[in-house]
Amino acid sequence: MTHILIIEDEPSLRELLVKNLTYEGYTVEATDDGIPGLAAHQACPADLIVLDLMLPRLDGFRVVQELRRVRDTVPIFMLTARGSEEDRVKGLSLGADDYLVKPFSLLEFMARIKAILRRVQPQELPSTLLSGPFRFDLASFQVYRHEQLVNCTPREFRLLEILITHPGRTHSRSELVEQAWADDAKPTLRTVDVHIANLRRKLDDGEDRACIATVGGEGYRWTLAVEKT
Ligand code: CA
Repeated sequence: MTHILIIEDEPSLRELLVKNLTYEGYTVEATDDGIPGLAAHQACPADLIVLDLMLPRLDGFRVVQELRRVRDTVPIFMLTARGSEEDRVKGLSLGADDYLVKPFSLLEFMARIKAILRRVQPQELPSTLLSGPFRFDLASFQVYRHEQLVNCTPREFRLLEILITHPGRTHSRSELVEQAWADDAKPTLRTVDVHIANLRRKLDDGEDRACIATVGGEGYRWTLAVEKT
């Protein structure tokens, strides 16, 4: 679980950030000054630190300085007062990763937090999935049935990828269009049916007929258990 440390001396803002980050599923610890902040990070290293620059005793600059001095690479997200461009430049040059000027919108705050975490914690996707007689190689976009290559088009593979990475979940046809034709002109829903019919023909040989189920005439679902390797 991603752990975020907030160092902010303004109680109402601190509480608001704690509440919203907790709601988003992060574990959150909060302190009101640099010294307890560094101590908290030492006791339980954070994955990201939200750091106010103007703090009563040990200010944000010195917190960044201290962390970087001991070669701690934890991402630091600074909160700065409006108009203090010099402070922002100083903070960034000391080694902070990003900043936001107060007052800021919570939506932007959350988006920036997620962007920083995405940069530092790239999602590790499994490269191979096993399901029934199938092996999916997500890196090379190939699917094998009993280790025999099944010839899928890139679009068919994309549809399969959506289904098998959420096994048991029904995807409506419009959802499949959105995800599988993300950057292109959107086809009709009927086109999805045609692709799924082709996929079924390619995947099934009589034994495993129901690997892609039609659900309520609305959407499709991968029915077999999927194992990550
Ligand atoms: Ca402050």
